[in-house]
Amino acid sequence: MSESDTSRHFITDIIDEHAASGRFDGRVHTRFPPEPNGYLHIGHAKSICLNFSLAERYGGLCNLRFDDTNPAKEEQEYIDAITEDVRWLGFDWGERLYFASDYFDQLYDMAVELIRIGRAYVDELSPEQIREYRGSLTEPGRDSPYRQRPVEENLALFEKMRAGGFKPGEAVLRAKIDMAQGNINMRDPVMYRVLDAAHPRTGDKWKIYPMYDFAHGQSDSIEGITHSICTLEYEDHRPLYDWYLHTLEIYHPQQIEFARLNLSHTVLSKRKLIRLVAEGAVAGWDDPRMPTLAGMRRRGYPPAAIREFCEAVGVGKVKGVVALHKLEYHIRQELNRTANRVMAVLNPLKVVISNYPEDQVEYMEAVNNPEDASAGTRQTPFSRVIYIERDDFMEAPPRKFFRLAPGREVRLRYAYFITCEEVIKDEDGEIVELRCRYDPATRGGAAPDGRRVKATLHWVSAAHALPAEARLYDTLFTEENPESDSDADFTAFINPDSLRVLDPIYLEPSLSGAQPGERYQFERLAYFVVDADSSAEKLVFNRSVTLRDQWRKLQKRAAKPRKSRKKRRPSVKES
Ligand code: ATP
Ligand code: MG
Repeated sequence: MSESDTSRHFITDIIDEHAASGRFDGRVHTRFPPEPNGYLHIGHAKSICLNFSLAERYGGLCNLRFDDTNPAKEEQEYIDAITEDVRWLGFDWGERLYFASDYFDQLYDMAVELIRIGRAYVDELSPEQIREYRGSLTEPGRDSPYRQRPVEENLALFEKMRAGGFKPGEAVLRAKIDMAQGNINMRDPVMYRVLDAAHPRTGDKWKIYPMYDFAHGQSDSIEGITHSICTLEYEDHRPLYDWYLHTLEIYHPQQIEFARLNLSHTVLSKRKLIRLVAEGAVAGWDDPRMPTLAGMRRRGYPPAAIREFCEAVGVGKVKGVVALHKLEYHIRQELNRTANRVMAVLNPLKVVISNYPEDQVEYMEAVNNPEDASAGTRQTPFSRVIYIERDDFMEAPPRKFFRLAPGREVRLRYAYFITCEEVIKDEDGEIVELRCRYDPATRGGAAPDGRRVKATLHWVSAAHALPAEARLYDTLFTEENPESDSDADFTAFINPDSLRVLDPIYLEPSLSGAQPGERYQFERLAYFVVDADSSAEKLVFNRSVTLRDQWRKLQKRAAKPRKSRKKRRPSVKES
């Protein structure tokens, strides 16, 4: 095994030890247990990939289970979105779609059992009093005056809770563990509370709902999960899960905690993502700027690239923040392999090729994907008036600018060499058109006399161009870690320029009829995906990722002693 083998990590070591010692009879059965209180984000993707790929690696099984214990915050919309996202990411739970709410009867029986053996009691302290009695990290808690109730009374009161005899906050069922324990989770945690809320699945059947901590471990036990993999914040809850399983004398999975994934320039907490949606900072959960899987799908990120990213960041115990450009690297890799190339002009400048016949149209053969010969070729029309990228021309070019300039010759991709002869401006001095000559002997992009040009430009025939809209995204936050400033709310760091709309851009006509979700490389520019907002009249494209890593470039520039730090648009590479 090589050190860079990210498919092996401390969890595979633990599983191998279990296999060697015969624990779980060599079985591996994992689960992904989302709470349906928001959409999945890239952090969840890591957990999904980990759980499903471990099961696959060991010939085991992985369940999808919704930990739906809090009807006040959970919705069917989230259940539907989560199942769609897990499937989109490429994983299959077969018949094993479960809900903690399927176990509400069993969990209720377990609670009754704990009361019966003297390990649970109904407490009628108010929620504030319970908090106060719980103590703190430095002070032990105090016993509730209701702690010593006899079993029969507890059974009757719990039944009364179930039957709707208490209002929310009037009574809870608590485990009787130890109010002096250093671990606050063990200070008689609440097991059941009264909630006046309809559940998406059980409707009005229940007036009481189990706490997440009471349901989670036992749900794993009921499903015969072997390795209950979760993130580090549950380490302090493990003694409690162990206590429930041990005290109830039921099957006991092994919980293993790993460090959660954090990504730079974004937030990955459902509570915060919900705020972005509710406060209108983004258009919805699937806004292409969101770190949600729905957002990334709409942004054009291929699921295979997300899986590879999750694999590459590895699994460990150390908390850290992964730089966004690492994710973008995998997106680029995958799109480079799979996305067809097309020509599109984002910021058009009209070019008239004065010596090209007025009504001639030639169809030029263009390669769809140089990385994939099976993608074939297409014919793209060329004519006398074309659009090129405004950035590809400079009237007074600096030394290192090799693209079009007065008197200079460049290649038009798949077409001809052209030379700029005249610059036409409007009365404000704005360049509105270029007049160029083409060399008919250079068809296909090479000169028979062997003369060379230093740049190849993309272009679109004006008469055939398809106008469309492009949405260019930048990071949603300006700060690498928008949560690091304890004084400021994370929303203070929202990037006001995270979306820039270009309309119209011009596309080569082969894109007519492109369908939402189709991914393309706009040559020399970036990868784009057709957005669901597209209509028969107008295509809308989302920029998925630029061709090059702009981040590194910007960082390098920032590190250099500054000459002029004018805010420039990163330049397009020569090709
Ligand atoms: P959030 O903090 O975003 O609200 P959560 O942990 O409350 O997330 P759950 O629906 O309870 O969300 O999570 C389902 C599973 O995904 C859990 O096992 C959890 O540990 C895991 N998970 C959540 N966030 C991350 C993350 N950033 N990295 C890795 N795993 C994660
Ligand atoms: Mg949670």
